[in-house]
Amino acid sequence: MKLEEFQAKALYGRYGIPVSQGIVISTIDDAVAAAEKVGLPVVVKAQVQAGGRGKAGGVKLAKTHAEVLEHTACILGMTIKDCVVERVLIDPAVSIAGEYYVGITVDRRTKKPVLMASASGGVDIEKVAAETPEKIIFHPIRAELGLRPFEARQIAFRLFPAKEKAMAAADILVRLWRCYDGTDATLAEINPLVELTDGSILAIDAKMVLDDSALFLHPDLEEMRIATPDEEKEIEARHLGLSYVRLDGEIGCMVNGAGLAMATMDVIKHLGGTPANFLDIGGSSNPDKVVYAMKLLVSDSNVKAIFINVFGGITRCDDVARGLVCALEQLDTHLPFVVRLTGTNEEEGRRILADAGIHATSDMTEGARRAIALARGEGAGA
Ligand code: GDP
Ligand code: MN
Repeated sequence: MKLEEFQAKALYGRYGIPVSQGIVISTIDDAVAAAEKVGLPVVVKAQVQAGGRGKAGGVKLAKTHAEVLEHTACILGMTIKDCVVERVLIDPAVSIAGEYYVGITVDRRTKKPVLMASASGGVDIEKVAAETPEKIIFHPIRAELGLRPFEARQIAFRLFPAKEKAMAAADILVRLWRCYDGTDATLAEINPLVELTDGSILAIDAKMVLDDSALFLHPDLEEMRIATPDEEKEIEARHLGLSYVRLDGEIGCMVNGAGLAMATMDVIKHLGGTPANFLDIGGSSNPDKVVYAMKLLVSDSNVKAIFINVFGGITRCDDVARGLVCALEQLDTHLPFVVRLTGTNEEEGRRILADAGIHATSDMTEGARRAIALARGEGAGA
């Protein structure tokens, strides 16, 4: 679960990290009052579950109430990386002497948490990482020990040679670790962590991703969830016993079993196509689930063709076939689709499909190949 900046800042605040104290608003009517409370000048900041807002025009300095109104009007409703801005943070503007980067995430290679820090923080950190990676410090953390104060000090002194600043930064690093660990985050980042012209150290941006699999331990954090339209679909699917993850390819996949669903995506990719989603309709499928799954796939405007891949075990092919026929009766769709059906009650399933004029293949590779051709408009359908 991704958090927006204001939510991540609230969590950092709980862990004692110095953060700028702004006010979140969702209508332009509240903008001036918020700016008055915060005190001019302010920074108007788009709240979305995506980074790179500054470059997209979603972070703007306002020195007057007129500018607050102007920027809020411009930023509310703006789209940044497919996210529509529904809230802005009116944050106190600060005068910056230096921008630093600090973040903790999971290092997939070592499967351990890693602290990253750099004196070249700010909006170009991706460029720094790509072109001058030597400017980023990577420090593996032993989760059972946590980030110990002496380690934090060693790193902080490499960013801030002056002792007082280094000690302040070290304290922030230890608290950032406590926040990351205590909330079961997979990312806790401050970019930039700034040195102000008065020498103090402050987090003016915050980015956190929480581990969905650990959220049941943190009902208060789960409550912070601001579901995107994709997530809403994923959550609804979960309630119905389906696992759905939207991707951005063209071939909608409907599969029974998580392993087969992964293999289906691999085969599509291997043959040169792109999967539009992961969708596991579960081990024992009833026709209703199939109807719902089909609706889910056709509602995705990226989908050009659908590949239904069923290996009947506990799932019965005839149930899937019945659901499919039923779904096609209910749905008004012209999307081409391919069915691969094999396993338990296969003959019965094929008979039901054949009665509805649908041919099913029994070979997964062949099915995937056809779906890819259909998605390309090559009409190699059943
Ligand atoms: P991001 O682009 O989504 O990472 O948004 P940030 O919150 O990091 O803001 C982008 C950039 O705007 C920062 O790197 C700063 O350079 C600048 N910025 C943000 N807030 C302030 C502020 O209060 N004062 C000044 N001078 N610059 C700011
Ligand atoms: Mn930032």
